[in-house]
Amino acid sequence: MLSVAVIGAGPAGCMSAINIDKDIDVTLFDKNIPLKTLLPTGGGRCNFTHDSFDIKDLVKNYPRGEKFLYSVFSKFGIQNTLDFFESIGIKSYTQDNGRIFPVSNSAKDVREKFLQQINHCNFIHEEVISIENIENGFSIKTNKSKYFFNIVIISTGGKSNYKIIENLGHTIIEPCPSLCGLVTTPHFTNLQGVSVRNCKITCNRKNYIGDILFTNDGITGPAIFELSSYMARENFPYKITIDFINQDIDWQDLFNKNPHKSLKNIVSELLPKSITVELLKNIDLSIEGCNIKSEIKKDVIKTLQNNVFNITGTRKNGETVTSGGVKLSEVDNKTMMSKLVDNLYFAGEVLDIDGLCGGFNLQNCWSTGYISGQAINSKINLKK
Ligand SMILES: Cc1cc2nc3c(=O)[nH]c(=O)nc-3n(C[C@H](O)[C@H](O)[C@H](O)COP(=O)(O)OP(=O)(O)OC[C@H]3O[C@@H](n4cnc5c(N)ncnc54)[C@H](O)[C@@H]3O)c2cc1C
Repeated sequence: MLSVAVIGAGPAGCMSAINIDKDIDVTLFDKNIPLKTLLPTGGGRCNFTHDSFDIKDLVKNYPRGEKFLYSVFSKFGIQNTLDFFESIGIKSYTQDNGRIFPVSNSAKDVREKFLQQINHCNFIHEEVISIENIENGFSIKTNKSKYFFNIVIISTGGKSNYKIIENLGHTIIEPCPSLCGLVTTPHFTNLQGVSVRNCKITCNRKNYIGDILFTNDGITGPAIFELSSYMARENFPYKITIDFINQDIDWQDLFNKNPHKSLKNIVSELLPKSITVELLKNIDLSIEGCNIKSEIKKDVIKTLQNNVFNITGTRKNGETVTSGGVKLSEVDNKTMMSKLVDNLYFAGEVLDIDGLCGGFNLQNCWSTGYISGQAINSKINLKK
């Protein structure tokens, strides 16, 4: 009987194992407990997919992998994912922003339902340190032992030991953090923990709208995550412009209508006071609306609506996903099998695929996991 090894029991590896026929001998390897990485997703609620049912819209949410995923999602898309979850006892609901969660709001519950589906598989709690392509299969060396399998799926995620994959002949697109906070120069330590709603950030002529949270060394929040994703492959430093107010404001009219209000109080109706005080610290904030000269008006506009920041890096350990991984042109997107090594498959974030926030990264795991599992069934059944 042919044997299958799944290296990495995260969402992608488990989805793959679940979809391999039950009469096939499947062994999952993980250096950790299976599906540990699912637990923090969606803040513990597991935002497992998104209601982008139209494939053309869906693939636009992947700054890396858009073209590759078109065919993947045609085979196993959002509706297939919802049906699959329902079939294993996970009912879901959709938030206003399109994000889909389990009704239980519990990643732990999703994990348990998945584990029930793989309890027929073998599980080896060891770290794989090398995989060698030998006659009729692969020799897998772990930190404890050596094994032989005919077919291997690598689903080791974004924190993979990519050397193992390079040694099999594959090209690795350099991994870098995505969906993360950014380090700014200057940074505003005094504003740490302060958030500003609905800002507009502009970078390379693209706008990102959303809330910003100041950190000890920079900025984070939904709009920054999206920016960090699109800019993941760019070199640092790069410049961004922040409009903290993101409204068309006739400042002169505003000052005229508030002739005896201080600049501080006028601006504080638009922004948190702490932001006003910190950002405009070089301007006399006690000045009244009727005395604000055009030079000061210009400074206010520049600081609050057209403020240029240098982005010098990503915040340490802040990434949610990794951009980079196994080069997509070396993988067949109809089967997820390597184009270079027969019987070697890939699934999930180990591939050079990463999506925006909203359930897209897990969707990549469900779809590539499903396709690799099904492709292995077809291959083994052909040989029977
Ligand atoms: C805090 C946080 C929240 C997130 N929330 C969401 C969300 O709500 N929605 C969403 O879509 N995405 C979310 N993501 C992203 C999502 O979790 C990942 O994209 C997804 O887990 C990737 O799955 P994977 O199976 O490809 O890899 P992983 O989840 O990284 O799993 C890989 C597995 O392989 C094992 N492994 C690695 N190397 C070896 C080795 N050499 N030997 C043995 N085992 C090995 C690891 O221990 C791990 O269990 C979140 C990520 C984080 C960090």
